[in-house]
Amino acid sequence: MFGTVAVSKKQLTNKSGVKVNQKILDRSSEILSRLKNIYGAPICELTHENAFQLLSATILSAQCTDARVNMVTPALFAEFPTAQKMAVADVARVEELVRSTGFYATKAKNLVGMARNVMERFNGEVPSEMEDLVTLPGVGRKTANVLRSVVFDLPGLPVDTHVGRLSRRLGLTKEEDPVKVEYELNAMFDPKDWGGFSLRLILHGRRVCDAKKPKCDVCELADICPSSEMPYGKLKVAPKTKKAK
Ligand code: SF4
Repeated sequence: MFGTVAVSKKQLTNKSGVKVNQKILDRSSEILSRLKNIYGAPICELTHENAFQLLSATILSAQCTDARVNMVTPALFAEFPTAQKMAVADVARVEELVRSTGFYATKAKNLVGMARNVMERFNGEVPSEMEDLVTLPGVGRKTANVLRSVVFDLPGLPVDTHVGRLSRRLGLTKEEDPVKVEYELNAMFDPKDWGGFSLRLILHGRRVCDAKKPKCDVCELADICPSSEMPYGKLKVAPKTKKAK
């Protein structure tokens, strides 16, 4: 149990040279263990059959729900199933197909640009290395980490809005910048757990720890969460003793 873990304020230096507080390390380990019990082996909710399709779907998911993206991709992939086909697509036609995901002009331009780069610079194969992925139009570290962890089974911890919010609420980081959050979280977990931790935290954010109305009363992390709105959570953070009369 978390409560029996020895807690000290010692700073440990992990393999990457990042300093991590022992108390936070203990909490992160307990959080991962509980999330594994609650959510088992999570899967990426974006429908895809290969790396190119997941990359396209992830580009479309910016500022859009996975459910909406999954409504759009069947028609998109029926017409442009491969990087080869997408690379020669008429951008206006792609715009039509992805319009309902928002920011459709930019997304269509990025999809076609990404496919052209994949064809011209990577022999038609979506690359797996971070430094290659982030050179593709519309691809940042978050998208690259989705690809790496979901398709290539490589270490990658995507930090989206849920992962950032929950990591701060759970006291794992104070950083607001997603890249800084990613590096801090990377330092806490075994690389093989990076992708799964992100997927489980996203599920917890969607189902329990809502941005506006977190359901702390039913949250299985409430007793170890510094932001819990439950009485025991508050007591844990700011214990108060009554003055004797
Ligand atoms: S206790 Fe509340 S704030 Fe903390 S993770 Fe659970 S729902 Fe979110």
